[in-house]
Amino acid sequence: MKKEFFIILLYILCFAFLTEGCSTIDRGKDPKEAFVSSLLKKMTLEEKIGQMTLFTSGWDVTGPVLNENYKQDILAGNCGNIFNAHTVSYNLALQKMAVEETRLGIPLLFGYDVIHGYKTIFPIPLAEACSWDLDLINKSAALAAKEAAAGGVNWTFAPMVDLTRDPRWGRVSEGAGEDSYLGSLIAAARVKGFQGDSLSDPFSLAACVKHFAAYGAPEGGRDYATVDVSERTLSDYYLKPYQSAVEAGVATLMTSFNEINGVPASGNSYILKDILRNEWGFKGMVVTDYTSINEMVLHGYSTNLKEAGEQAVAAGVDMDMQGSVFLNHLKESVDEGKIALSQIDEAVRRVLNLKYDLGLFDNPYRYLDENREKEVGLSAEMTDHALEAAHKSIVLLKNDVWKDSKLLPIDQKTRKIAIIGPLGDNQIDLLGSWHAAGDVTKVVSLLESLKKSLPNVQISYSEACTTSGNDGSKFPAAIKLAWESDLVIMAIGENYQQNGEAASRSDLNLPGVQQELLEKVVATGKPVVVVLMAGRPLTITWMAEHIPAILNTWHLGTCTGEAIADVLLGRENPSGKLVMSFPRNTGQIPVYYNMKNTGRPFDPDNKYTSKYLDVPNTPLFPFGYGLSYTEFNYTNLRLSTNEIGMKDSLRVSVELSNTGSVAGEEVVQLYIQDLVGSVTRPSKELKGFKKLLLQAGESKVVSFSLTSDQLRFYGANMKFAAEPGEFKVYVGTNSVDNIAAGFTLK
Ligand code: BGC
Repeated sequence: MKKEFFIILLYILCFAFLTEGCSTIDRGKDPKEAFVSSLLKKMTLEEKIGQMTLFTSGWDVTGPVLNENYKQDILAGNCGNIFNAHTVSYNLALQKMAVEETRLGIPLLFGYDVIHGYKTIFPIPLAEACSWDLDLINKSAALAAKEAAAGGVNWTFAPMVDLTRDPRWGRVSEGAGEDSYLGSLIAAARVKGFQGDSLSDPFSLAACVKHFAAYGAPEGGRDYATVDVSERTLSDYYLKPYQSAVEAGVATLMTSFNEINGVPASGNSYILKDILRNEWGFKGMVVTDYTSINEMVLHGYSTNLKEAGEQAVAAGVDMDMQGSVFLNHLKESVDEGKIALSQIDEAVRRVLNLKYDLGLFDNPYRYLDENREKEVGLSAEMTDHALEAAHKSIVLLKNDVWKDSKLLPIDQKTRKIAIIGPLGDNQIDLLGSWHAAGDVTKVVSLLESLKKSLPNVQISYSEACTTSGNDGSKFPAAIKLAWESDLVIMAIGENYQQNGEAASRSDLNLPGVQQELLEKVVATGKPVVVVLMAGRPLTITWMAEHIPAILNTWHLGTCTGEAIADVLLGRENPSGKLVMSFPRNTGQIPVYYNMKNTGRPFDPDNKYTSKYLDVPNTPLFPFGYGLSYTEFNYTNLRLSTNEIGMKDSLRVSVELSNTGSVAGEEVVQLYIQDLVGSVTRPSKELKGFKKLLLQAGESKVVSFSLTSDQLRFYGANMKFAAEPGEFKVYVGTNSVDNIAAGFTLK
C-alpha cells in the first residue's frame, strides 16, 4: 500500500513538473513576451523610467516646455518617447540617436496630434461627424494615418471622443458631438481607421483615445475646469465612447486634465483601474495629458510632485507627458519603497509592448522613408478624399424662398456676386484647430474657388472686418459692394483660434463686429446667403430670423473653398446633419436633445413649468437637423409586433420618399423613449440611423432591428439591463420632426 502511494505521489510530482515546465515554455513561446521580458531584465531603473517619459521636441507646444534638453535626455536613456516631432529627416536623426547611441538601443515612439489630417487637412472632427458616414470617417482616419506615418510619426493623440453638451467649451470642435451612441460608433470607426488591420503596418498609427474621462463636461464650459457628474450619467453617457474605442482595440489612452468627482484623472484609480483595466479589460498603455501629473499639486490633491508621481503610478499611469515628474522623482519613490519595482515593470512592459507591436524592434526606421514621404503627402488620394469629406460635412440650416425662389443653389443667371466677410478669402482659419502640419498654401479659398467655377460672373470681395476686434472702418466699402451686386455671400464665423484647446467662450454670438456687419448688409435689401464657418455651434438666432439661406460649413480643411462652391452651385446636394444642438442663446446652455422630461415639462401657457421666461426650451436647430436641396417625406411607420420579449427582436420600417426634384442623401434616424424606468429616462435616445441616396421621385422602405440589448441602461441598482415596460419609437429626419409608434417589452 505504501509503495503504491509513493508511486502515485511520484506520478503527481512528475505531472506537476512537466505541466509547470510546459507553461514556462508556453509563456516563453510568445515571442513578444519573451523579447520584452529579456529586455526588461537588462534595463536599469533609470532606463525604465526613461521609457515612461515623453517629451515634446519643442515644435508645436501647447503648454510650458519643461525640458529643453531632450536630445541629451534621449542619449542618456532618460527619455524614450518624443512628441511634436515629424518629417522623416528630423525623426530619422532622433531615432538614430536612440537606436545607435544609447546602451540598449530602444527605439523612440513619435507621437503627434494628427487629429483631422497631417499635411492634408480633413474637416474638423465635429464637422465630419455631421456626415453620419462611418465609412467616410474611417477612411479619413486611415488616410491621415497613412500620410502621418509617411512623415515619420507612429502614434497619434486621437481620437478625442469626449462627449460634449456645452458649446462654450472650445474643444467641441475635436469631438463627435452630444450623443453617446453616435459618438461611440464614430470612436470605433476612427480607432480602426488610424490603426488599420495591424499596428505593424507602416501605413498605420497607434491611436490614443482621449481624454479619459469626461473632459467634455467642465463646469460652465471653461476648459480644464472641474467635472462633477453622477456615476449613472458617467456610465450611461460619458464613458460609452471611450469604452467603444477600447473595444475597437485602441492601443493607448490619454488621461484628462480635469478632476472627476474630486479626484484628478491622472491619479484616479477608480477610472483607470476599476473601470478601464478591470471592467473593460484594457491591455494598452496609458499616457497622461500634458503636465497633468504636475497639475495634481495645484488641484490640491498631491502635496508635492513626488507624491503626485506616486499617485499617478498607483492609479495606473504608464507614461508622463512632458511633466518630468517620473524622470525627477520616481527613482526616489522606488528607493523609499513607496512604489514597487513590479509596478514600474508593468508600466514599462506596456510601453515596450507597444513598440514591439509597431514593429519598431524589427526595424526602427520603418516609418522613416523619404521617398514614401514625398509620394504620400498631399497626393491626389488625400485631396480627393478631403474634398469628399468636406462636401459631406456641410449642414444646410436654412433655405427659404426669397421673393419668388430659394437662394440656393445659386441661380445660374446671377451676374454679380459680392463675397463679404473675413473668411471669404482666407486660408489658415479654414484648416480649423489642431491642423498639425497642414499645408496652408494648398488651401483654396472660397473666393478663388467661386471665381474658378464661375468665370463669366463678376465676383468681388470685401473682407470688411476681422474675426475679432472692433474695427468697422471698412464697412462702407463692403456695403457699397453689396449695393452693386445681385447676390451677397457672407463668409463669417470663427477663426481657428477661437475654438479648440483653451478657447472657451462665454458668448457664442459672431465674434468681433461681424454681427454689426451682417445687419448692415441685410439692411441693403439685397439677397444674402450666409456661409457660417466655425468650430462650434454659434448662437445665430438673429441670423436665422433675417437671412433666407444659411450654410453651416464649420472648418472644412484643405478643400474648404471647392467644397463650399460645389454646394453653393448645386453640384453637390448638402446632406450633413447636426451632431450638436444649436442653442438660441448662451443662457440656454446646456441644451441637448436627450434631456429629461422633468415633473413639470415645458408648457408655454403654464408659468409653473420648467422653462425660462424669455426663451423657449427648444434649441434653435436640434440634434440630427439638416436640410437638403430636395424634400424627404416619411410615411408608413410599421412595427413587426407590438410586444417583444427580452430575447426577441422588433423590426421597425418606414417608407422614405424623395418628393423633390433632385437626387439627395438622407439620414433616417431612429429614436426610442423608455416611458417608465427604475430611474427616469431621457425623452428620446438615438438607437439607429441609415444614410441613403434617393433619386428624385424615388421611394424606399428603410428598416431597423431593435433588440432588448439596445434598450439597456444603468437602473436603480446600477446594473446595465433593459427593463420591461412601454416604449415609443420615433423615426424621422431629425430628433424633433419624426413619426411615432409604441411597443411593450415583456
Ligand atoms: C492636449 C492634448 C494633446 C496634448 C499634446 C494637450 O494640451 O490637451 O489633447 O494631445 O496637448 O499636444
